[in-house]
Amino acid sequence: MIRENLPTLVIASHNAGKIAEFERILSGWWRIQPQAGLGVTAIAETGLSFIENAILKARHACRETGYAALADDSGLVVPALDGAPGLHSARYSGGDDASNNALLLNNMRDLGGEDRAAFYIAVLVLMRGTEDPAPIVAEGRWYGHIADAPRGDRGFGYDPLFVPFGENRHAAELSPEEKDRMSHRGIAVAQLLKHCGE
Ligand code: IMP
Repeated sequence: MIRENLPTLVIASHNAGKIAEFERILSGWWRIQPQAGLGVTAIAETGLSFIENAILKARHACRETGYAALADDSGLVVPALDGAPGLHSARYSGGDDASNNALLLNNMRDLGGEDRAAFYIAVLVLMRGTEDPAPIVAEGRWYGHIADAPRGDRGFGYDPLFVPFGENRHAAELSPEEKDRMSHRGIAVAQLLKHCGE
């Protein structure tokens, strides 16, 4: 397929880790364009759920660029912490990924066994225009637990602490291809592509 002839899809995110994953998984189908390159600014994520925030972000990117846009609202959910970091995963500590991980470890210091269970969730919304009445919506979840200490230098966010179910390695120790096959985002993208073909 000739890349130049592919339709443009704006990625409604400023998160370099997410953008890299979408470029890897989707560049056979669309010409992937991160929103920053088109001058799209971040908007306040005022929704009370992942789906609400994904819709806000996708519509904003469509409005600003005139292209179809894909938004991903995602996060790490720890049921024993009442769902935290959850919707606030990106800004949990107010600092960078390393301080988010440090805060999570600290908040889980007294939790063991089943209480260390966690899952990632990604909700994707693909809007073909600002007034698209039927955006394509897909969701993926990736189950596992939170380790006692970080390991690995791949991935992003909480990957150094997240150990997927059935794995000994932390998510940050997986190859990009392995992560794409297993992850919440990989699962959601597979669903999205299925719906796009319907
Ligand atoms: P959002 O950009 O508001 O959707 O926030 C997503 C946040 O969730 C990221 O900044 C990470 O903290 C976390 N997150 C989502 N997906 C992943 C992942 O695949 N690995 C690690 N952290 C993730």
